[in-house]
Amino acid sequence: MSGIYIHIPFCKQACHYCDFHFSTNMGKKEAMVLALIKELELRKEEFKDEMVETIYFGGGTPSVLSTAEIDQIIGAVYSNYTVVSAPEITLEANPDDLSKEKILELANSPINRLSIGIQSFFEEDLKMMNRAHNAQEAETCIALAQVYFDNISIDLIYGIPGMTNERWISNIEKALAFGVPHISSYALTVEPKTALKTFIDKGLVPPVDDALAEAHFHILVQKLSVAGFINYEISNFGKPGYFSRNNTAYWQGKKYLGIGPSAHSYDGIRRGWNINNNAKYIKAIAQNELPMETEVLSKTDRYNEYIMTGLRTIWGVSLERIKTEFGQKFYTYLTQQAQKKIEDGLLYIENDRLLVSKKGKFLSDGIAADLFLVNLS
Ligand code: SF4
Repeated sequence: MSGIYIHIPFCKQACHYCDFHFSTNMGKKEAMVLALIKELELRKEEFKDEMVETIYFGGGTPSVLSTAEIDQIIGAVYSNYTVVSAPEITLEANPDDLSKEKILELANSPINRLSIGIQSFFEEDLKMMNRAHNAQEAETCIALAQVYFDNISIDLIYGIPGMTNERWISNIEKALAFGVPHISSYALTVEPKTALKTFIDKGLVPPVDDALAEAHFHILVQKLSVAGFINYEISNFGKPGYFSRNNTAYWQGKKYLGIGPSAHSYDGIRRGWNINNNAKYIKAIAQNELPMETEVLSKTDRYNEYIMTGLRTIWGVSLERIKTEFGQKFYTYLTQQAQKKIEDGLLYIENDRLLVSKKGKFLSDGIAADLFLVNLS
């Protein structure tokens, strides 16, 4: 089973914290859709033996596409690949795009899961982050979407400067009141070359406070667990039956094809990444060239990746898999490195799986990094 990720590199305006690849100039939207379709055709051989289980429109803002454009792209997937009978087809959407008409159109398209970029239900947070939607739109779009879609995820951001615990709790409670079955939630991070970084450097915005983010994370985990959500990956919470099939496949190391500028691909051995420039991407594809660079992952790279993604999920790291796939040397290294963290209560072993404890959860990336190795073959 494998997945296809399609990157839609357009946004109406730039959120201050964002370092994803996108353009606010929609002038190339039509040419981009044609290029995405052509890339799907050009790469079909890579997936000739694969069943496509998930199709994921990410971005950027995929909801800036018309439903006809989305249908054309999905049509190209079906004409060039073998798709399972009940695939998960997700569209990331922003609240300001989700009018009643648009939701109705999407409900009549093959899209069967919406991932809505709410981020916050409060005007001051949305303005501070320069989101394109307002607080009212955040609420109305969920209510409208729920009329036609059952499988809805919303994104929420915590640790925003100025966001009190009370406001964060209120955000979580609003999400719970809607009864959405999946929530993805991330700490606001300050990436280089973003407007947020500049504002903080100039003293216009207070710096992001790690202690605040950690407090918000613990509130989130506690409240969502009481509400019946499973924290199946550090930033993802789903009711049973609503875990993202796309993301789960990715964390479990399955193959995926990344279509579009800046999209990444993985075939079990090699990682590839497309050029992150819309004009150059369209030009290369028009000349039947794939604007992609690749690297073959070494055994050490694959081990490090498995440790990183495994420790972020409830499935943890299978010690049996470490032994069989990577060998005794890796197994010995891992169990020795993990010992101190087990003694400190940050990790534990259950059913031959290495897992992060409740205490270690917020620190899981740092814990994983301590278990990495630089070169062992
Ligand atoms: S809408 Fe999403 S991709 Fe676009 S700028 Fe905002 S955070 Fe980045």
